[in-house]
Amino acid sequence: MTHPNDIERYELCNECGGLCCALYLAHDEDGAYIGEGWLEEYIELWIERLSASGALGFDADGRMVAGTAGIEPLHDPRLSHRPDAVGEAYRATLPGWIDVRKCQFCHPETGCLLPREFRATICGEWVCELWETSAAETNGASR
Ligand code: SF4
Ligand code: SF4
Repeated sequence: MTHPNDIERYELCNECGGLCCALYLAHDEDGAYIGEGWLEEYIELWIERLSASGALGFDADGRMVAGTAGIEPLHDPRLSHRPDAVGEAYRATLPGWIDVRKCQFCHPETGCLLPREFRATICGEWVCELWETSAAETNGASR
């Protein structure tokens, strides 16, 4: 599992399992739905981000496809999170290893499938608390 930004902290991120790419985590620990009021807009926000970066494209029927990056999205969150029969039918077509809680370009084992230049801008900027702590420890140890 690799981190989205320019520096790899393979062990840290592998242990975490890529939580920062779990964009569509819409259920709590007990399995209750918590996506009400934010998930739909958030999916749209990430469509804008990933379209702007060249990762996502759309075909003539509005289907989500590979952008100029040439990498097919693993799922379409507009469908994979639909709480109705259409969503259910779509989810049934997805291979079991695809994790729809994650970004459509996040492979559950290896992390982001996109070359860095095609990731959303925020992916190269954002770091989690664990990352900051580990970076501080690494810097402290080298002094
Ligand atoms: S940056 Fe943080 S949240 Fe993201 S994969 Fe690494 S440890 Fe996990
Ligand atoms: S584009 Fe890549 S780095 Fe950014 S959220 Fe998606 S999987 Fe993670």
